[in-house]
Amino acid sequence: MSRGKDKEKVFQIKWKTDLPYRYSMGKLSVQFFKELKENKKLHGSKCPKCGKVYFPPRAVCADCMVEMTRLIELYDTGTLVGFTVVNYPFVDPQTGGLRPFPYGYGLFKLDGVDTYTMHFIDEVDHTKLRVGMRVKAVFKEEREGNLGDILYYEIIKEEPKPKKVEKMVEDIEEKVFRGRIKVPYKHVAGAYVEKFITEIGKNNKIMGVKCPKCGKVYVPPKMICFNCFEKMDEWVEVSNQGSVKGFTVVTHSTPVMPLEPPFAYALITLDGSNTEIVHIIKESDPKKLKLGMRVEAVFKDKPRKRITDIEYFRPI
Ligand SMILES: [Zn+2]
Ligand SMILES: [Zn+2]
Repeated sequence: MSRGKDKEKVFQIKWKTDLPYRYSMGKLSVQFFKELKENKKLHGSKCPKCGKVYFPPRAVCADCMVEMTRLIELYDTGTLVGFTVVNYPFVDPQTGGLRPFPYGYGLFKLDGVDTYTMHFIDEVDHTKLRVGMRVKAVFKEEREGNLGDILYYEIIKEEPKPKKVEKMVEDIEEKVFRGRIKVPYKHVAGAYVEKFITEIGKNNKIMGVKCPKCGKVYVPPKMICFNCFEKMDEWVEVSNQGSVKGFTVVTHSTPVMPLEPPFAYALITLDGSNTEIVHIIKESDPKKLKLGMRVEAVFKDKPRKRITDIEYFRPI
């Protein structure tokens, strides 16, 4: 390819994904970590319907779909039901470095608890480990209010303990973590997409390419026919009207949404094309959406060289 003045610039789509979020750990977890940090105590949640005790605490009973608002104090002892000794250097998400190995990892049930939990165990010789062994939590001295406050479970010799008496925990303050995920990227879309987008923006024309062998018309254009593996370079204009082949209604709103919800994302086959494009249907009443309904492209007044230069489709 020539590197002269007439060298075509490769068409790129630049996009900055920016998703601010708030993560609420829930009231039970707030109190769980507070008790762990301040009192070295483990708590679970108890289902008011079936009485099942969850550790770590969960907000909803998976069996009854009932909200659990009770935190119950637990023993720090339990019984091993499965184990492994890790001899492989994993990256430790807490430090970013390699976690020293070997280390023991166990699956167990705390006394009085109905669910399983996993954590480190202080035995690295697997021949010394047996299902049914008793374990006890060992806490960090300087605790921070996270799961790392339980250093590991040590193997002990003592009998299982009965269930503890419940105590209610109320009036817990909600804790919300704020964060943001930014993902800037450049997508090299290629010459076919460039022509497709340019014709939409400049001339309000929707173009496809036709397979010389099977005659199938692709919108958006592809270089190679998926059926015949033939190179396609015959451009044809298709209609700006088409039929809906599938849709979903968006009701959730975020800053990156192209329209105010509710609107639909739909698979649309334009007249004269044999493939479907995904685009927006602007219809404020989702009940009016139907498979097979007819829609028409509405072009943007000021094109920006994006697929949203077809601003949306409207029912006709
Ligand atoms: Zn339940
Ligand atoms: Zn073909």
